[in-house]
Amino acid sequence: MDFLPIFLNIREKKCVLVGGGEVALRKATLLLRAGAELHIVAASVSEDLRELCNTHDCAIVEKSFEETDLGGATLVIAATDEPEINKHISAIANKLSIPINVVDQPHLCSFIMPSIVDRSPVVVAISSGGSSPVLTRKLKELNESMIPGRIDKLAELLASYREKAKSEIKDFSERTRFWEGILDSEIPELVYNGQDDQAREALESYLSASESQSGGEVYLVGAGPGDPDLLTLRALRLMHKADIVLYDRLVSPEILQKLRPDAEKIYVGKRRADHAVPQESINGMLVRLAKEGHKVLRLKGGDPFIFGRGGEEIESLSAAGIPFQIVPGITAASGCASYAGIPLTHRDYSQSVRFLTGHTKDGRVPLEWDALVKEQQTLVFYMGLAGLPFICEQLLKHGMSATIPAAVVQQGTTQTQKVVVGTLENLSDLAAENKIQAPTIIIIGEVVRLQQSLSWFNKS
Ligand code: SAH
Repeated sequence: MDFLPIFLNIREKKCVLVGGGEVALRKATLLLRAGAELHIVAASVSEDLRELCNTHDCAIVEKSFEETDLGGATLVIAATDEPEINKHISAIANKLSIPINVVDQPHLCSFIMPSIVDRSPVVVAISSGGSSPVLTRKLKELNESMIPGRIDKLAELLASYREKAKSEIKDFSERTRFWEGILDSEIPELVYNGQDDQAREALESYLSASESQSGGEVYLVGAGPGDPDLLTLRALRLMHKADIVLYDRLVSPEILQKLRPDAEKIYVGKRRADHAVPQESINGMLVRLAKEGHKVLRLKGGDPFIFGRGGEEIESLSAAGIPFQIVPGITAASGCASYAGIPLTHRDYSQSVRFLTGHTKDGRVPLEWDALVKEQQTLVFYMGLAGLPFICEQLLKHGMSATIPAAVVQQGTTQTQKVVVGTLENLSDLAAENKIQAPTIIIIGEVVRLQQSLSWFNKS
């Protein structure tokens, strides 16, 4: 980070603006909006700036800049069109340790002014550290369109209940949960819709019911195959809400970074034949933590209901009467297929797709091999790397053609994705030669032929 973002209180503080043109006018407007005691030093001052100063009763000194102008200043902005003068002001301000901004000359600045979305008291400040004003403008537009117009009213409403909530809900994390509940309730929509009185009433009643509201909940959330951009909006929302997170090995570090920073993170990962925490203990933990009043996030790779044992977890929650939500995720088969450029079905090549487990028990996969050897069908094996030689051998033995195309996708959708394409006959050797690492998805079927033609899409 090149600059520390801060919001500075300049109310009734002396701020010096050197320059009297159009840019100075924009800066003066901003400084006055923040309540500055504005001093303008300029050889000549535009009419508009003079008018602004008259209405705000601020001082204009029409003369050239001198060091003494900065006496007692909290900050200074140089907005003259003379580079040498700007440089001189910057040198003096630095000598006096007064924060200085020189318009359009970042190397002379000790602070830069962000682009802002002002819905005071809510203010969003955006900066690209001077690297791209267009990028900053795009981000500003994005924020302008995403932040509801009456968010200022919402902020005011919340502020007016802060003290009351503090005295009624003493515990800090319980209070945080209370406010999160308010923001997830109908209240924001009421405010955005102009129904401020109803919003206030609703807040009052939530506050008086807060005692009975502190029950826990479990969110069973699919985190997708690895790329954080593949998280759903709902997953993200619940990731910010949960105060305890139980996650497994397939959840990528980039995704974990998106959790609420103060959330407690518990690793309950599973590896092949190495169950870090047995499933029964995970089920028990979810119930216990929710009973203690926590918002518990059970974060799983891919989709919780596809080879994810999500079904078992909700069975115990439901038996214990714990409220829960289930959020689907992009399953590894979809993610890997898209990022590798292999369609799972295709009008000409495949009318159905089967998701299978290749997890071997004693080196054997208990599958009905005959049913898998069919034309116009795509097979996708999860957990199949260790059993790959056995899978290929069984399919060949049950009559599948040796030349059927097949692919292994390693760590699909992540930076370490690797795609190896071969045939049923040589895939297992190719995977070994290429030192393919778990987790992998194995795709077998005519659709794999299309891999070359589609893969341009995800190449950077
Ligand atoms: N619920 C998950 C699957 C869990 S089983 C889902 O819907 O995706 C674990 C298996 O998923 C792994 O052994 C591997 O076969 C597959 N898998 C998960 N993430 C993967 C990834 N990024 N790339 C390739 N395979 C992946």
